[in-house]
Amino acid sequence: MKVLITGGAGFIGSNLVRYILNRYPGAELRVLDDLSTGRLSNIEGLPIQFTRGSILDFELVRDLCTGMESVVHLAAIGSVPRSVAHPRPTHEANISGTLNVLEAARETGTAHVIVASSSSVYGSNPALPKSEFDWTRPMSPYGVSKQATEGYAIAYNFSYGLKTLAFRFFNVYGPRQLADHDYAAVIPKFLDAALSGRPLVVHGDGQQSRDFTYVGTVCEAIVDAIDRKVHSKDPVNLAFGTNTTLIALIDELERKLSVELRIEHSDPRVGDVRASQADGVILRKLFPTLRPTPLSVGLGATIDWF
Ligand code: NAD
Repeated sequence: MKVLITGGAGFIGSNLVRYILNRYPGAELRVLDDLSTGRLSNIEGLPIQFTRGSILDFELVRDLCTGMESVVHLAAIGSVPRSVAHPRPTHEANISGTLNVLEAARETGTAHVIVASSSSVYGSNPALPKSEFDWTRPMSPYGVSKQATEGYAIAYNFSYGLKTLAFRFFNVYGPRQLADHDYAAVIPKFLDAALSGRPLVVHGDGQQSRDFTYVGTVCEAIVDAIDRKVHSKDPVNLAFGTNTTLIALIDELERKLSVELRIEHSDPRVGDVRASQADGVILRKLFPTLRPTPLSVGLGATIDWF
């Protein structure tokens, strides 16, 4: 297995590196990451080729693509609120960066590219569950950038015959997802507050829902896609149709931690969607053996890592 992973020092990327090395100890893995949000400590000591650099450096991406059988393109500036505060860097990294990765794959004859899109592309569409055939209306620059990411990937299949697969991730959680920055995701933020005895800050009423997906399951799907060179002319939701409100998540955390947690409500966040739940029809068709990890099991593994 010869794979270039962009963003491989980040949360999902470093879990993926470990997952592949466990399964294929002789795998040839290259990681390209600018360490803007990723951490070297996530991948230190692992038998991979790490390059600190940017996906905006086309020649570097092209060199790293050479000889690879697949590219898993995870590098991006994540987070809805970060993109609302800083739209231009989000545009450059997520849209121009994706174009660079696809161009590099095309020029080097790399057969297969998987890109990371997001449930944020559905935006203001209230339909539930969210099917890949529903219309999309991103509500944030981040959502727009992910729509462009998947749009480019699919267009490269039609235009150049590159085998591409655009996964729409829904709230992914698990070990190595950090809480120590302003734009942290909700599960590490809640865990960090809970374990240090601070109140959990809930934006709005807490009835907003998310389709939380365990990172191990995401890695399993990506590796299966690499193995079988799965590609698709439609984006693919990578989530299982669970619909957990933040209040229900807090209840589950209270059970797992055996404590009563204090909650503080603050204003709803600009650009946040109210409800998110995937329709899994395409996922089940392409990955018939993939099974979800129950929230309580995934939270247990995440708490153990914290
Ligand atoms: P992350 O921030 O931990 O990982 C992204 C990585 O990309 C980081 O290591 C960062 O340093 C790197 N990076 C950023 N800009 C770069 C650049 N210009 N050149 C090279 N490296 C760069 O985030 P994550 O949660 O692991 O997300 C991985 C991918 O999945 C992203 O594309 C994200 O948009 C997408 N996604 C994540 C979620 C989620 O719930 N975590 C949901 C939907 C989509």
